[in-house]
Amino acid sequence: MGSIVLFGPPGAGKGTQAQRIMEHTGLPQVSTGDMLRAAVKAGTAVGLEAKSYMDRGALVPDDVILALIRDRIKEADASNGVMFDGFPRTIPQAEALSELTEITHVLAIEVPDERIVERICGRSTCGHCGAVYHDTFNPVPSEGCSCGHYQEKRRADDNESTVLSRLSAYHEQTAPLANWYESRDLFYRVNGDRGIDEITQDLLAVLN
Ligand code: AMP
Repeated sequence: MGSIVLFGPPGAGKGTQAQRIMEHTGLPQVSTGDMLRAAVKAGTAVGLEAKSYMDRGALVPDDVILALIRDRIKEADASNGVMFDGFPRTIPQAEALSELTEITHVLAIEVPDERIVERICGRSTCGHCGAVYHDTFNPVPSEGCSCGHYQEKRRADDNESTVLSRLSAYHEQTAPLANWYESRDLFYRVNGDRGIDEITQDLLAVLN
């Protein structure tokens, strides 16, 4: 089995869907955004370099990202492939990835720009189990997170001004990858402007 790429703008629901697809495929989620946030929190050299880019909603340089990915896919749980979430984000990243592992599907979750700000600005995760919530579209249950230890976490870059920069980075640097993967017959589009379950069903249908 090869690896899967979850593709789409910030706030498309890649992380939410990755967790659900993981339950079906067993492929581990590899989120470069999560890896960078962990590096920032730990105060590593990578974290220090990445932070200024992340804070202003710009992409972190390709060499930093590719070094993280090269190490991550050497780990034992990645031997049957992984599900990339938020990677690759530039054509040089995709070219480098194609030398490292086989990609079988690029699943694009499509959401119109005008929906992105509201989707990002209400988001939170549980710091204990990683479950993803949204104040309006997927609220934390009144009895708390299903893990029983709810800790609300909100991302520093989930605010209106940074979202607009992230969205323009997506259009300028990441969206051209759609053609790159389409020309290689790996690209599948799913309408992401619907309920979470419907999107999961479509994504799983593509994989099956
Ligand atoms: P995400 O969690 O995927 O929204 O990523 C958060 C931030 O991390 C982005 O706004 C970028 O600054 C950085 N980042 C994450 N993944 C990448 C990547 N593949 N290439 C460049 N920058 C990235």
